[in-house]
Amino acid sequence: MSFPFDISRKITLPISGTSDVFPVNQVYCVGRNYAAHVKEMGADSRRPPFFFTKPNWTVSTSDVRYPNNTNNLQHEIELVIAVGEKMSIFGFAVGVDLTRRDVQNRAKKDGKPWFSGKSFIGSLPISEIIPVRKDIDYSRLELVLKVDKKLKQFASCADMLWSPQEILRELSRDVPLVQGDLIFTGTPSGVGPVKIGDKIEASITGKVELSFSII
Ligand code: MN
Repeated sequence: MSFPFDISRKITLPISGTSDVFPVNQVYCVGRNYAAHVKEMGADSRRPPFFFTKPNWTVSTSDVRYPNNTNNLQHEIELVIAVGEKMSIFGFAVGVDLTRRDVQNRAKKDGKPWFSGKSFIGSLPISEIIPVRKDIDYSRLELVLKVDKKLKQFASCADMLWSPQEILRELSRDVPLVQGDLIFTGTPSGVGPVKIGDKIEASITGKVELSFSII
């Protein structure tokens, strides 16, 4: 059997400390995983977090072109979990779930899916992946996001409503999680707009850094 066209093109991310690359399969995202962010979005903090997806072609490792169809592009820093064999955690990364907030808000109001607000070329900047060789305490990780050197988001992963292990358990009830999947684990409070010319620096303190500009 052969394919009618070339299927060798893979979306990949560098793996820290090696020349290997991580092949990105599905990308899942958690909505409302930090109480302070739930509050800033005006949502009900008693309702549990939930999932949505972004296509893997949204993954970006370079500068991001300001998308069309929006006047309110916003940053959301997130801890990203890279899924390994048998639903283990292969590693983690820092990522930014860029969102056309005006488009998302219209969709929410009209009861439509978030797809257009969340999915456009470059909407998922992500760092290299830090492999995890033994279990680490994710609650000790700190997320920091700066726009043009100004601090915008700062939070401890201890404030997540669902921990990475709980997210894996919840998500695996609904989907066939496999190695290569990425999970964006939700953003803390402090989300806000970015504009052309802004430089965004996102990091997990002492572990991994990501920077890109909006062009
Ligand atoms: Mn998000």
